[in-house]
Amino acid sequence: MNHSPLPPALPDTDRTRHRRLRDQGSLERAALEAILDAGFTCHLGVVVDGHPMVVPTVYGNDGRSLYFHGSVASRSLIASPEATVCVTVTHIDGLVLARSVFEHGVNYRSAMIYGVPRLVTDPEEKLEGLRRLTEQAAPAQWDYARRPNRKELAATVLLALSLEEASVKIRTGGPDDGDGPDAALGIWAGVLPLISTWGEPETDPLLPAGVEPPDHIAARGGTRLG
Ligand SMILES: Cc1cc2nc3c(=O)[nH]c(=O)nc-3n(C[C@H](O)[C@H](O)[C@H](O)COP(=O)(O)OP(=O)(O)OC[C@H]3O[C@@H](n4cnc5c(N)ncnc54)[C@H](O)[C@@H]3O)c2cc1C
Repeated sequence: MNHSPLPPALPDTDRTRHRRLRDQGSLERAALEAILDAGFTCHLGVVVDGHPMVVPTVYGNDGRSLYFHGSVASRSLIASPEATVCVTVTHIDGLVLARSVFEHGVNYRSAMIYGVPRLVTDPEEKLEGLRRLTEQAAPAQWDYARRPNRKELAATVLLALSLEEASVKIRTGGPDDGDGPDAALGIWAGVLPLISTWGEPETDPLLPAGVEPPDHIAARGGTRLG
């Protein structure tokens, strides 16, 4: 595993170069890291048998690579170590409701990462990748729940995708038509924020009485995602 940090600026490649709505683009790796840190799901786009497949999946992040896992029978994961993939992470922050439908939009933070994933075969890295995946979604859960055994590890594929080639786009703020001719329409315009929050833990009814959610789960109820 290479542990050296990636450059602070995102690369300008034919794939990552912003073309439309360029003002929403960011070239800062810190912006990419913030987007990845704020979530735990992504869409993995890969061509399988000549057809595009875009698969929602969870990820782990160690700052250099994203990790993806799944069944050894997963077609998208089996195809990925040989194919270029595009992974997208999206956070929606609100609806931008303008005076004209044409100017409506979405406030968002999104990242796209390109590359050919690497199949992780080293047992130590495989466990570490799975730990990253678990901790991304549920911090402190790796040390709480039972870890994968040999049979479960053998049934799991783990891929690592370098974060080297990535692009970021972020839109914030209100509608763009407040100083145009449609301002005279006199209709409401603005932003409807979208905020995702965790609910209170729902205990499995099959648990014996008295087993309470651990602090790292209970404390998340009512907190904001992303
Ligand atoms: C929830 C949501 C809804 C959206 N709805 C619309 C819509 O209805 N219509 C619309 O035109 N646009 C929409 N966008 C913006 C859209 O994602 C793109 O930014 C834009 O449309 C890209 O135009 P393009 O296909 O010409 O790509 P290009 O501008 O040619 O893209 C060039 C490169 O820029 C990078 N890039 C482009 N978009 C993004 C992105 N969102 N995040 C990270 N990197 C990016 C990629 O690396 C890409 O290869 C939406 C975005 C989000 C998050």
